[in-house]
Amino acid sequence: MSQEITLAQFETWMLTFAQLIFEHEELLTELDASIGDADHGINMVRGLQKVRERLEDPSLQAQDVASLFRSVAMTLISSVGGAAGPLYGAFLLRAVKSINGNGSVTSNELAVMFRDGLEGVQQRGKAQLNDKTMLDSLQPAVEALEVSVAAGDEIDSALQDAVAAAEMGMLRTAELQASKGRASYLGARSVGHQDPGATSAYLLIDAAAKSLASTSS
Ligand code: ADP
Ligand code: MG
Repeated sequence: MSQEITLAQFETWMLTFAQLIFEHEELLTELDASIGDADHGINMVRGLQKVRERLEDPSLQAQDVASLFRSVAMTLISSVGGAAGPLYGAFLLRAVKSINGNGSVTSNELAVMFRDGLEGVQQRGKAQLNDKTMLDSLQPAVEALEVSVAAGDEIDSALQDAVAAAEMGMLRTAELQASKGRASYLGARSVGHQDPGATSAYLLIDAAAKSLASTSS
């Protein structure tokens, strides 16, 4: 039986992402203090507070996943500040580029959404794997999701694979030297610290796994 993901679950994904960012604000800012300018937690909290306000306003309810993501993307782009806002915006805008407006999303469509979103981040930021950016957790997550979905796994287990891959990628950024973003100014001194954006991107995937898993039907 093929499972489908509902609009309400995508809303829950965004709200869960907001919650995880609020819970990890200090960590994200500490990581950015080591290799950046100590604002990643503050930036992300600012943006996701706005997202939460929007999603909780009954007069602004989105009618489909595409308009939901466009609205969250525009909110992040205009309110996060710093490099990460436009990159998360690009992920969400591109993720819905080929979605059809007929309601729920299958696991295959979800894998396409993640791939398209990843390409949005790549095009916007021009970073590659191992540049020590959010791509280092996002890209392995997308690849793991694609492999699991292609193998016919249920959405829950495909997303668990994606979270595990994102976590591994996030932890591995500690070994890397940054070649994109503010951390690249440090050169070899960026080695030994986990990347803040790879950490918030892991939280995005973790939030997806917590929200998009099958409902009890
Ligand atoms: P800023 O660097 O402007 O202060 P933030 O601190 O909010 O912005 O975000 C920093 C994070 O953004 C980095 O840890 C990195 O993961 C991510 N990042 C920066 N530049 C790029 C890029 N070109 N591509 C992908 N991610 C990037
Ligand atoms: Mg910063």
